[in-house]
Amino acid sequence: LDDRDGKIWMDGELVDWRDAKIHVLTHTLHYGCGAFEGVRAYQTDQGTAIFRLREHTERLFNSAKILRMKLPFTIEQVEEAQKQVVRENQLASCYLRPLTWIGSEKLGVSPKGNKIHLMVAAWAWGAYLGEEGLKRGIRVKTSSYTRHHVNITMTQAKTVSNYTNSILANMEATDDGYDEALLLDASGFVSEGAGENLFVIKNGVVYTPDLSAGALNGITRNTIFHICQDLGLKLVGKRITRDEVYIADEAFFTGTAAEVTPIRELDRLEIGIGSRGPITEKIQSAFFDIVNGRNPRYAHWLTLV
Ligand code: PMP
Repeated sequence: LDDRDGKIWMDGELVDWRDAKIHVLTHTLHYGCGAFEGVRAYQTDQGTAIFRLREHTERLFNSAKILRMKLPFTIEQVEEAQKQVVRENQLASCYLRPLTWIGSEKLGVSPKGNKIHLMVAAWAWGAYLGEEGLKRGIRVKTSSYTRHHVNITMTQAKTVSNYTNSILANMEATDDGYDEALLLDASGFVSEGAGENLFVIKNGVVYTPDLSAGALNGITRNTIFHICQDLGLKLVGKRITRDEVYIADEAFFTGTAAEVTPIRELDRLEIGIGSRGPITEKIQSAFFDIVNGRNPRYAHWLTLV
């Protein structure tokens, strides 16, 4: 990923892709205090558009606030940086990665006085859990790792260090031959995937864990809330147990990278019909209509670059 042509926005300037480097004594590299976003831009009839740019940018600022990092840019500047990166790299559709980190002025746990940096990169990235996964559903394993407790790391911040937990869970699940991990909270209730929010459907009602289970407040999760309302589906946020997922009619993961990915199995137990369920398919299709600009009701969620 580091050896290619293109431009990366770094601290207010566009730099050549291969020159977008930082020092080994970067504070964030040692102690993990940093925050990032995952954003997607899609091709629409009117051109390339970033999906829910404002919400992603606000979440980045909120993540930084929770980490007590003061970003030296305004929301508008960071939005413009993201548009610029998509334009400059001439990407029709892509994934965007804004990241903020603490500089290398000094080490020691306290980052006080160190410079806060920000970069935005973008590149083409297809279906995160595979095209096949989008159509047929993926196989998931309940993780032996517990999701972050709400007062250990801050779960509403998309922080760099939170992802060690995700990496461990994902590696464990994929090493065992599964596609993704499902993590439980410290009380044993279902929280989320390594990089996705979870939804289950039972008797026509859509359920998702409430945020007290330590799940990230996903922007795709919120998009699903709107879709459920449009489709006349009842949606309930509540505590969900692992066996409720086993006996659900349908289940799916959501995320900017994962989009809407059906789950066909959890812990080798088939969920419902063992492939993408009919309601999941409707929700997924409504999702792709929205992100690709085919639903005028949500035109305000698309920012042309
Ligand atoms: N949970 C975790 C742990 C994630 O990494 C992500 C991806 N950002 C999500 C949920 C989904 O969030 P979003 O829909 O905003 O991408």
